[in-house]
Amino acid sequence: MAVLDQLTSQQAIELESKYGAHNYHPLPVVLSKGEGVHVWDVEGKKYYDFLSAYSAVNQGHCHPRIVGAMVEQAKTLTLTSRAFYNDMLGKYEKFATELFGFDKLLPMNTGAEAVETALKLCRKWAYEVKGINENDAQIVVCENNFHGRTTTIISFSNDPVARKNFGPYTDGFIKIEYDNLKALEEVLESDKNIAGFLVEPIQGEAGVYVPTEGYLAAAKALCVKHNVLFIADEVQTGIARTGRLLATCGNCSCGDKNCSGEPEIKADILILGKALSGGAYPVSAVLANDNIMNVIKPGNHGSTFGGNPVAAAVAIAALEVVQEENLAEKAYVLGEIFRTELSEFAKGNDLVKSVRGKGLLNAILINDTEDSSTAWDICMKLRDNGLLAKPTHGNIIRFAPPLVMTERQLMECIDIIKTTISDFKK
Ligand SMILES: *Cc1c(COP(=O)(O)O)cnc(C)c1O
Repeated sequence: MAVLDQLTSQQAIELESKYGAHNYHPLPVVLSKGEGVHVWDVEGKKYYDFLSAYSAVNQGHCHPRIVGAMVEQAKTLTLTSRAFYNDMLGKYEKFATELFGFDKLLPMNTGAEAVETALKLCRKWAYEVKGINENDAQIVVCENNFHGRTTTIISFSNDPVARKNFGPYTDGFIKIEYDNLKALEEVLESDKNIAGFLVEPIQGEAGVYVPTEGYLAAAKALCVKHNVLFIADEVQTGIARTGRLLATCGNCSCGDKNCSGEPEIKADILILGKALSGGAYPVSAVLANDNIMNVIKPGNHGSTFGGNPVAAAVAIAALEVVQEENLAEKAYVLGEIFRTELSEFAKGNDLVKSVRGKGLLNAILINDTEDSSTAWDICMKLRDNGLLAKPTHGNIIRFAPPLVMTERQLMECIDIIKTTISDFKK
């Protein structure tokens, strides 16, 4: 067999199993093509993608505008490192900072790297601006968080599978309950060494937990009161996924009418990744104003690939697509339809306990024990019926299609989901 021969699904799965580390447990489907809301397997079967690569493909698979920008730039200049300037990075930084309403942007590649960057930035600010004694800074995080996979980040995870036997862990983090203002207030009042509060506006990996209305705004106000940086990890919730440009939609210029009426929650440090590139390329970023970002000086932090011209060209195109195709508005409208339809369905079906989410980041809770395989088994049936989704923790199925879906397509997908669950037998 030549290396690039066309494989069957079974062959592809066997190759990964034999030659790849077993750090994932994929649904058994082997994809070889994507376009918009659809993906195709190697046998040519077509599916609706209801994961969107964990919300990285908000703009749809292989968006021609994004792919076009990537190919053009790839033919011109791909990488200089930051030892020299390139003529794309500054354009991207200007565009993105103006769009999200911050003074400066620090470019990285993956979400976890951007989270690491935000933690380092927060600590340096604590020592050089806030005046905390060196090595004493604490960062408050939430239980059941997901911020990535580095040694420091898993140090403050409470997922035993992600943590076990990867110690010793990094110090300097205090964990409190998510969506609990009292817990945040208590920790801020009892400890003078707190530098930041790192939070997901909706906990995606934990199972799409939407906090109580007003929680984020009140948490931000507590941070202001205690001179603590509010650090929003919008790697999954950002870039129109939840029906607004950002789930914390702060002082941005997205022009989305759904922003009005919601409190403005301006993060001190904003972390973006995933759909910042529309899934075409690894692009992440940390945004902050000068009073924070200026603590970073040459040599303090960096990345060989961070801010490369392909990433810059791709990110500009990906953000332009979000604006021009009104993806925040679309996610808002389609999300309302999705939750209304499935909540109605849940009332008459014993298997679905409830539906929750915001915009097109949604989940259904399956009525079975946490350790049962029901959610997985339903995802296998959904696959057979042409729709790809994956369980998150416990018995929860996340539904997050690309935002470029039409209403007619969404109704077809809702039908597939209802029929599959109605016909499901354990
Ligand atoms: C996916 C994700 C990350 C990590 O991103 P990677 O690109 O996988 O490193 C961090 N935070 C949140 C909220 C995420 O959803």
